Amino acid sequence: MGKKELKFNSKAIHGGQRPDAAYGAVMPPIYQTSTYAQPTPGAHKGYEYSRGGNPTRTALENAVASLENGSFGMAFGSGMAAIDAVLKLLLPGDEVICTSDLYGGSYRLFKGVYEKYGVKFRFSDMVDMEELASQITENTKLIWVETPTNPMMNIIDIEAVSKITKQHNLLLAVDNTFATPYLQRPLDLGADIVMHSATKYLAGHSDVVVGALAVKDEKLADQLYFVQKSSGGICGPMDSFLTLRGIKTLHVRMQRHCENAELVAKYLENHPKIDKVYWPGFEHHPNHKVAKKQMEGFGGMISFVPKGRNYEEAIKIVENLQLFTLAESLGGVESLVGHPASMSHGSIPKEEREKNGVVDALIRLSIGIEDAEDLINDLKQALN
Ligand SMILES: *Cc1c(COP(=O)(O)O)cnc(C)c1O
Repeated sequence: MGKKELKFNSKAIHGGQRPDAAYGAVMPPIYQTSTYAQPTPGAHKGYEYSRGGNPTRTALENAVASLENGSFGMAFGSGMAAIDAVLKLLLPGDEVICTSDLYGGSYRLFKGVYEKYGVKFRFSDMVDMEELASQITENTKLIWVETPTNPMMNIIDIEAVSKITKQHNLLLAVDNTFATPYLQRPLDLGADIVMHSATKYLAGHSDVVVGALAVKDEKLADQLYFVQKSSGGICGPMDSFLTLRGIKTLHVRMQRHCENAELVAKYLENHPKIDKVYWPGFEHHPNHKVAKKQMEGFGGMISFVPKGRNYEEAIKIVENLQLFTLAESLGGVESLVGHPASMSHGSIPKEEREKNGVVDALIRLSIGIEDAEDLINDLKQALN
């Protein structure tokens, strides 16, 4: 049976992988080398210099492509380097429409770096497709979607957006970091490019910073490989190995992340000291129907606002948590808590931030794979 026909859990372990050609190593060896011997100039075994390609990185790139049902994968030194490579497909004067509730680092790269080069960014909540379409001009080249959004957990209908991008001949890129291919496969829903901060769930152990892209189209892949090789924001062999090792348990971890998050979300929803809980699994979540349609679970991320919407109160809760570690990042086996307004989203102006609901009292949880009861008990003591 070809590996293309494997189901997801099998692909997480075997997708794009085969034992190493040299000695049959089952795990891809860490080819910690910058260069490769050539018997005669120009003759090589597929690798010349590790910026252009490295066998450990290739193994990771193939694995990500396989999980996303893509044909080509690219691995980068960070999620931001992966986004940067996509933006380098653009020219001065081009326009991008992106999700208004965006990861803070993406916002910073768009506004702080690419606007300088004459690329224009428009923002849309992407709920009303007519509103989204009305922002398209003759210069629009790319629609950048993040779903679920960080940290407000809004859900955007990828298939509906892809109808618009196909109609107007635009590229559609989806940041799939929060959902992972276990829950959502944007390429199957009509996206051209899927992007990951593999730092988060794909690697899953809070020990690397890695980014990845996957695409179906060969011409688009060639353009991205050209940028990857030319700009050089590549992922090293050790980090490629660690990310691959993480991917082999992605399905098992995601299942537990989802189960635990559901229990924690429901606990918080019923807590008298909580004003609002953002989790797409609630039937009253404004985009619950879309989440149910395009995702196979609701993920491990939850945001909430304590009653009174008081900044000091939120900080006290965050500081009181003991099992949850106060730290940037998400998607690791351990539970983390973050304060978006001063951490992940600090680079977005307060006014912009609050328009999207990222108030000073908002708290974000990355639910790990510990025992849910312990996580709930920790929240209970911190809220009291
Ligand atoms: C973390 C993150 C990024 C950036 O990835 P890095 O690996 O930190 O460079 C991009 N998008 C989302 C949704 C993220 O959570």
